[in-house]
Amino acid sequence: MESTLKRTWAEIDLDALAHNYRALRKQMGPDARFLGVVKADAYGHGSVEAARTLEELGAEYLAISNVDEARELRSAGIHLPILQLGLTPVDQIQVILDNRITQAVWCEAAAQAFSDAAVQAGGKMKTHIKLDTGMSRLGFQCDEAHFDASLEALVRVCALPGLDIEGVFTHFAVSDEAESSCRDYTLLQHDRFMNMIARLKARGITFPICHCANSGATAGYPQFAHDMFRPGIIMYGIGHQAGQLGLRPLMTLKTVVGSVKEFTEGTTISYGRTFRTDRTSRVGVLPIGYADGLHRMLSNKWRVWTPYGMAPLVGRVCMDMCMIDLTGLPEVKEGDAVEVYGPHNSVNDAAVLAETISYELTCAVSKRVPRIYYKNGKEIGRELLLRG
Ligand SMILES: *Cc1c(COP(=O)(O)O)cnc(C)c1O
Repeated sequence: MESTLKRTWAEIDLDALAHNYRALRKQMGPDARFLGVVKADAYGHGSVEAARTLEELGAEYLAISNVDEARELRSAGIHLPILQLGLTPVDQIQVILDNRITQAVWCEAAAQAFSDAAVQAGGKMKTHIKLDTGMSRLGFQCDEAHFDASLEALVRVCALPGLDIEGVFTHFAVSDEAESSCRDYTLLQHDRFMNMIARLKARGITFPICHCANSGATAGYPQFAHDMFRPGIIMYGIGHQAGQLGLRPLMTLKTVVGSVKEFTEGTTISYGRTFRTDRTSRVGVLPIGYADGLHRMLSNKWRVWTPYGMAPLVGRVCMDMCMIDLTGLPEVKEGDAVEVYGPHNSVNDAAVLAETISYELTCAVSKRVPRIYYKNGKEIGRELLLRG
């Protein structure tokens, strides 16, 4: 279904993605491959358009976090290799093979089961081995207590007939934090990663693609590029490190000023009566609420950008609407577009106020909000995610 409604929408600037892609390639050197993480609908930006743009720009790999996300990209005609970073039930082997998905393998039992299933299906599953160097999520454990057992398990896994092992990777827990204890931990994780790769090499096992650099490492440890780097958030121009590299946000979340009214001093606004006017006030209603992804935590904390200045949210954010104080902004009228997040009003700042991270706020922009894609400054498509 196409939307003609100018209610609340997200403009996605694919030129900013091209700019960020080029800047990140420069940061990581000419030899490393670029894997763009487009899981969770490209962090809310739209995975098909993001993937298509990355493919055109020359990225070598994509990553998602469940096989349906990979199927969506394949049915849109995306040809790049796709790494499935997360858990997949073994009964999905045919989906993996049919869609040329590279599946992460996180333990020996899963490796064995995938290998058996692939053999039975008459194929080989392209695989990247996941090492747990300290994230304590998926992967073969590489801490001192488990290192030798994992090494032996990996030697067995790498001999399985149904796996075509192309890569090995790990994931950092605190690579985006500058504190010295975080740097120490990241270096420890990297040492464990290198150590396991070296010990496997001594056993005659090598991997064409070793990779570990998420956004935090891409910004802070370019020496960790190895054969491929694997940014997500920073590629979308958000997160606290994006600015340091001159990256630009892709998403501008916009809405329009609806009804504007004047209230006398002492009037309470919205559910719970959490805001009371302290003067004669001009208050606008915006057709955006928590069902669109504007977290209720931002009630009385966030603001929207207008060409004449910032307008603070007043009162609780409702499901479909919220209110802004326009008292100091007499120029702002009904029908004007305002920026909820974007280049003038950073989602990073909203994340701090909502006690979360920018990832969560862009992922939260809901399927009710059409994405409108811009390339070379022109609209090239729009997607209303509410299925018609
Ligand atoms: C999500 C994810 C990434 C990307 O993380 P960012 O912090 O967005 O760069 C990289 N690798 C793995 C395994 C992930 O799950």
